[in-house]
Amino acid sequence: MGSLAAAASERRAHAVLVPYPAQGHVTPTLKLAVLLHARGLHVTFVNNESNHLRLLRTRGARALDGAAGFRFVAMDDGLPPCDADVTQDNWALCHSIWKTCLPRFKKLIAGLDADADADVSGFSRRVTCVVADSNMAFGLRAARELGLRCVTFWTASICGLLGYYHYQHLLDRGLFPLKSEADLSNGYLDTTVDLIPSMPTDLRLRDLPSYVRNTDRDDIMYNFFIDVTTTMSTLADAMVVNTFDELDTPLMDATTALFPPIYNVGPLHLTARNNLPADSPTAGIVLNLWKEQEEPLRWLDGRPPRSVVYVNFGSTTVMSKEHMLEFAWGLANSGYAFVWNVRSDLVKGDDGSDAFQLPPELTTAMEARSMLSTWCPQVKVLEHEAVGVFLTHSGWNSTLESISAGVPMVCWPFFGEQPTNCRYKCTEWGIGMEIPGDVHRGEVEALIREAMDGEKGKEMRRRVAELRKSALISAQCGGRSMQNLDKLIDQVLLA
Ligand code: UDP
Repeated sequence: MGSLAAAASERRAHAVLVPYPAQGHVTPTLKLAVLLHARGLHVTFVNNESNHLRLLRTRGARALDGAAGFRFVAMDDGLPPCDADVTQDNWALCHSIWKTCLPRFKKLIAGLDADADADVSGFSRRVTCVVADSNMAFGLRAARELGLRCVTFWTASICGLLGYYHYQHLLDRGLFPLKSEADLSNGYLDTTVDLIPSMPTDLRLRDLPSYVRNTDRDDIMYNFFIDVTTTMSTLADAMVVNTFDELDTPLMDATTALFPPIYNVGPLHLTARNNLPADSPTAGIVLNLWKEQEEPLRWLDGRPPRSVVYVNFGSTTVMSKEHMLEFAWGLANSGYAFVWNVRSDLVKGDDGSDAFQLPPELTTAMEARSMLSTWCPQVKVLEHEAVGVFLTHSGWNSTLESISAGVPMVCWPFFGEQPTNCRYKCTEWGIGMEIPGDVHRGEVEALIREAMDGEKGKEMRRRVAELRKSALISAQCGGRSMQNLDKLIDQVLLA
């Protein structure tokens, strides 16, 4: 669509994209950014300072050089500097972002405009629009105050979004906060919540984004998401979502009624792969906060199709040593080969330390059949024919990547909207099986066996193959997702 590029150039369009500073947000925002750049918009990509410095340490001094019309800048998130290569505390980040970032972001935009005004070559452009991660609600507020077009980017699932949106209603109906800690285990979380249009009427409190599991009316995360969903529904000109139309058809009417015009552009890892010109100057940009290891891919090569379990709990999950051991024994006892990504900060000890060693008898039991890594190229691993099942925390990127590769899932949701994703995978889409929160080795072993070779596993593979087909069609070159992105550019960003 050369005409869009011409229009973007004629209107001197310049989008500032600001992801929430965690891997699961930075990666899809980068995909969106490179696609906008390929359509002729100038792009400024805003990392927080911790991630900016971490990316330079992990990926090298040139990693954030960008390209003509595509630049990276860093913004203070209000927290003390963090130079450890570990995941930042989600609660502290959300609080700081919510309460402190608006003035700094407006200053950043003023600085970009001043640079453009001072550029005698005329190449640099003043900022014309903001594409802010929905969690970065200050981006929408700033854009409104400055008279810029503004788009909210929801990087997670639509089912999760509807759950968060209804937090206010749970409060109004007295379902939140919990009356006491006992409600976490006395069956209260099984209370059905039939107030969300288009979601199942037997949805339970435990299926909703996890911050409902709290006795504190003033809980930061609960209130953060009330603010996020209110801001995106009232201030944004449009909403971009990393999903594909067919997956969320049953939820779209209800969602459309609550939010500004929605543009589904996913799965973004495929939309970007299929629609970015081969010679794109941004094609080589990677923003993984960890250095990826290629060994798991080589280890998978030559193994029989669908013979390996892939285990990865994403970038933020933290588990106890006890849970880690239950997973390890369950996997070892299942008899299948497995690739397991164990981040250095995946396991927290009671004392907060994260030094963890598997006991020798377990290492021996796993030895010949396992490959442990600390960060692997997940999309490629899932696409490897040797992978049969994905044991996942159910983060949205992992879910989309697994669907796109046609791999059914065994789910152990950790936090945020992961329980909602898990519910949808298990009962609405039929592509997942859940491991209960307090994990036991026997359950891990039995569920892995069923998912790999049981009847349920066969059915899940059939369902996920159908969804995969829709995902590939949506994200193909010039497919529905790219058409939606082009409409967003035409109808919103250049309007
Ligand atoms: N990821 C990866 N290698 C790993 C672990 C994770 O490439 O070893 C990527 C994964 O492909 C996904 C992202 O990190 O794109 C994790 O996002 P997700 O939404 O699944 O979970 P989160 O980390 O936000 O909990």
